Formats: sequence, C-alpha cells, structure tokens
Amino acid sequence: MTIYAPIQSTIEKAAALLREGDLVAFPTETVYGLGADATNDRAVAKIFAAKARPQFNPLIIHVPDLAAAQALGALDERARRLAERFWPGPLSIVVPRRPDCPVSRLATAGLDTLALRAPDHHVAQALLRAAGRPIAGPSANVSGRLSATTAAHVAKDLGRHVNAILDGGPCRIGLESTVVACLPARAWLLRPGAVTTEQISAVIGPLDAAPANDPERSPGQLLAHYAPTLPLRLQASSPKGAQEALLAFGERTPPGFSKVLNLSPTGDLVEAASHLFAFLHELDQPEFSGIAVMPIPERGLGVAINDRLRRAAHGSTMIRQ
Ligand code: AMP
Ligand code: MG
Repeated sequence: MTIYAPIQSTIEKAAALLREGDLVAFPTETVYGLGADATNDRAVAKIFAAKARPQFNPLIIHVPDLAAAQALGALDERARRLAERFWPGPLSIVVPRRPDCPVSRLATAGLDTLALRAPDHHVAQALLRAAGRPIAGPSANVSGRLSATTAAHVAKDLGRHVNAILDGGPCRIGLESTVVACLPARAWLLRPGAVTTEQISAVIGPLDAAPANDPERSPGQLLAHYAPTLPLRLQASSPKGAQEALLAFGERTPPGFSKVLNLSPTGDLVEAASHLFAFLHELDQPEFSGIAVMPIPERGLGVAINDRLRRAAHGSTMIRQ
C-alpha cells in the first residue's frame, strides 16, 4: 500500500489500479471512500472483504456529474432537480437502475435501485474522470468503526487491503452524505447527512413518509432486498425433483441438477461473493422448479453470503419497489 500526494501522475496511477480491479481509497468532501470499479464484481467483492461487514449492503456509486449518473440510473424530475442543485456535493440519490446499467449486482446488493453521488472534491473528481467508469465507494473504515476523515485513518484501518490511498488532507465536511430515495412512487430520506431535509424540501417540496418499516428502528430493513422468485433451498447436497437448478460452491458438485452455476470451484469466498447476485438472477428462471444452494462456509465473506441467502430463502423481506 502506498499513500500518494494527489498530483496528476499519481491520480492517473490510482485510476489505472482501479481499472485493473484494485482498491484505492480516495478523499471526498464527506469522508474517505474505499473505491473499486463499480462495474467489476470481483473488485466490489474486495470492498466487502476489506470492510469485514457481516452483511452485503448497497454501496454508493460515485460519478463525476449528472450526465454520467443518467447513463446508469433513471433520474426522474425530482432526482434531476436535486442533482442539479446539490451536485457536486454531499447528497446521494437512490434511483432505479437502467436496464442496461453496467454496475455490478453485488455493488447494489441485488437491488433494482442504485445510490448515485457526484462528490465535490477535486481529487475525487479527477480520479473519476481518469478512471472513466463509475466507482463504488463506501466509507473507508472497517465495519463498525468510525468513518475515516484522513488518509492516516484509512491507512490504520484498511492499509492491508488497499493498493493505494490518495491523501487529500482532512475531509472538509467529515460527515457522511445524505441519502435520499427518489423512486417513481415516492421520495424519502434514507439517511440524514450533510444536506438537510429542509434544503431538500426547498427544491422538491416536502419529502414523503418513509415506507412501512421505520428505517430508524430497522436499519437495513427498509431496502427492497433482492429475493428470487423461485424457492431457495439451502445446505443442499442432492437434487429434489427433476427441474432444480444448483448454486454450487467448491470442487465437488453433485449430479442431477438441471443447471449448475458454481460460485467458486476453488472455494474462494471473495470470488463466490462476486458471483452471488449475478448467478441468483441467472438461475431465477421459470424453467426451473427451484434453486438449491450448496453449503457455504461461515467464515470471511461466507458470513455475508449466508446472511443474504438465508434472507432470500425466507421468501424474505421487506419493501419491494
Ligand atoms: P456508505 O457507503 O458507508 O456511505 O453507506 C451507503 C449508504 O447508502 C447506506 O446507508 C446504504 O444503505 C445506502 N444505499 C446505497 N445504495 C442504496 C440503495 N440502492 N437503496 C437504498 N439505500 C442505499
Ligand atoms: Mg459507512
């Protein structure tokens, strides 16, 4: 890991690392971001491994500007007005994914929406433009610790996991971005942050109430988490019925399934995480009677993978947008 003073050549070096699938921490006006190429499943899986979070939650996707955001998400009138007023700046806007959106399904935790933000920091802007692709960037801290607002914080927490840190000095705001959802049916606050509700209401009128589950009391539950349409059967070792598909893991795959996709033949949990959502989508087809899932070890990223699979198996959850 190298800490770089951000000049044109080091920013270009960092952008090249991102394009190769490596992790780069970068300054924004809110907090430091742990960046990965948002279109690369494997790079995004490294973020979750580095943060050691027991769950997959969707990551904020950083873009240089509104035009880049519109290539990824469907911004309605309200979303567009918010972006025009607050970008670049500390507001993340959750909008539906466009059908052709190239962002990794793991980066959005399988959701059909994505959180977009154009940060107001010259280093972040230069990096995004040099990388030429959207950058997934959660706060650059280990899960459960304070967000990093200096390069030294990042180095202490995540130095082992990142290839480079761009040192832009202390973050100007030091508080996470506000997250607001702008979906066709309603617009509501998901996370308070540097932009206030009053500032938002001044642009698009009063926000709607948060749907059903109170996000304050059930964090993480407010999201429309992806659950397949087909029944999911965990800890499977042999097929049940003729038309079952198999989500496999490891080198020994039992015979007799209609279709098999292997999360990682070598048993690599980072690789498995990188394929999880994309493979679930691929197997969730009416031609199959259900999806059987082989046991995944409960360690490292396996904890988050199993958390997601258990929720999906419970015909889970939550609010579908
Ligand atoms: P962090 O990346 O650590 O700043 O956290 C990102 C925040 O944005 C979390 O609170 C996420 O739950 C939220 N977020 C990101 N993407 C979405 C999405 N598609 N829908 C709802 N919330 C999201
Ligand atoms: Mg965070």
